[in-house]
Amino acid sequence: MHEFKTGREFVGRLPHGADLLEAITAQCRARDIRMARISAIGALTQARVGYYEQDAKKYQELDFPGHCEILALIGNVSVRDGAPAVHAHVTLADDAGKAFGGHLVAGCRIFACELVITELTGDPLARGFDETTGLPLWSED
Ligand code: ZN
Repeated sequence: MHEFKTGREFVGRLPHGADLLEAITAQCRARDIRMARISAIGALTQARVGYYEQDAKKYQELDFPGHCEILALIGNVSVRDGAPAVHAHVTLADDAGKAFGGHLVAGCRIFACELVITELTGDPLARGFDETTGLPLWSED
């Protein structure tokens, strides 16, 4: 585990029609946020999430073409290939209140979204390829 201090905090609305992952990433890169925790709520006009197949070591992408609520988006920002990278998971709900979700990937179209970014100051964690899982993870130390 690594110790960080809370830095700047940003709260705001993301643009209607934008891609959710791209919009969060753009907000972080515009402010040179290299380490943060993030959370958001809102709604999407369409959703796509990832599910990691642990045996095959690859992501399967699931499409949800209907409108849905973002019940909770939670995630972090750290450095990957020298640039701030967002890793987030979303819990979504359909028009019957049924929840589903997964790893946030490109393909979620914003209807409305309120984002909170809490910057963490200190040496940012960097992601590197992890042989065991096949994922770009932080080191274990
Ligand atoms: Zn994930």
